[in-house]
Amino acid sequence: MAALAKQNPQAKNYQFKVCTDCPLCQSTHTETLYNEPFTKGKTAGFVSSYYQSRVPMEKLADGNYHVRECTDCGFAWQAEVLEGAGINALYSEWIEPQESLRKRENPGTTFSAKQANEVALFCFLKHKQPAELKVMDFGTGWGNWPIIAAAMGADAYGAELDSQRRARFTTKGVKPVEDIFNCTEQFDVINSDQVFEHLTEPLPLLKQLVKLLKDDGVLRISVPDGTKTLKKIRQQGMQYQPAKNALHPLEHVLCYQHQHVIALAAQAGLVPISPMQLFKAQLENLRHGSYNISMLVRDMWAQLRSTRIIFQKKSTA
Ligand SMILES: [Zn+2]
Repeated sequence: MAALAKQNPQAKNYQFKVCTDCPLCQSTHTETLYNEPFTKGKTAGFVSSYYQSRVPMEKLADGNYHVRECTDCGFAWQAEVLEGAGINALYSEWIEPQESLRKRENPGTTFSAKQANEVALFCFLKHKQPAELKVMDFGTGWGNWPIIAAAMGADAYGAELDSQRRARFTTKGVKPVEDIFNCTEQFDVINSDQVFEHLTEPLPLLKQLVKLLKDDGVLRISVPDGTKTLKKIRQQGMQYQPAKNALHPLEHVLCYQHQHVIALAAQAGLVPISPMQLFKAQLENLRHGSYNISMLVRDMWAQLRSTRIIFQKKSTA
């Protein structure tokens, strides 16, 4: 097969990895919630319109938008996921890099201020000045978050596979990490924003991140909250319309609710920081920073009920 692919890569359909057991708890008690070929019906309509016809649809003929749910832990995921050339094409061609850079080049004042606030919250949480903080943003993309952290004085690193994106943020004071498994630094704060929903095997990466965390360090996982999407798909069955949500076809392959983020983190040796610890840092940020009440409520809700949670290592709990 490999030889065939080499001779005529254009003619070959993209390959899919199939995973029917629960990726979170490994249970075999799972069932299908939705299953439609990528090349047919509402799924094909979403994929071709969302990616503005950049996807050669005929090459997706071997895969289905196949959503499964674990009847033991309630986790949902896409059971057929692009691999090899298909996954490369998705992230380097279909999600258009220039378009995504344009969005990132000018994130707007509100967005940048929000990110500065997040860095400030970590400072208050760690009782450290920005300049005393060593941070890494995992799967940083164009590096907006660590660029803000670096501008505030932090020793900021960005972990990113794509060389074009790394080249951009290294010119703005952020140190690049190409491969976290070769990284030997130790961080006070590791941030991962909208990364873990894209991964088929998140646990080995999360365990490696925990190794790079100082004993008193904190790690934030932020992923889309799949609660509403899952409710909709359960209610509507095959009437469901695939959309840009927590089960975005091809991209958001794992669909988390609060308890699933907690369960994944526990397997890597992490426990959530206490609500009181978060609340104290929030109050400090309110008094001295530009944090506001709606941000406080949003962050506390996310910590207790949703899928944006700050963790620490179990041994220090
Ligand atoms: Zn499960």
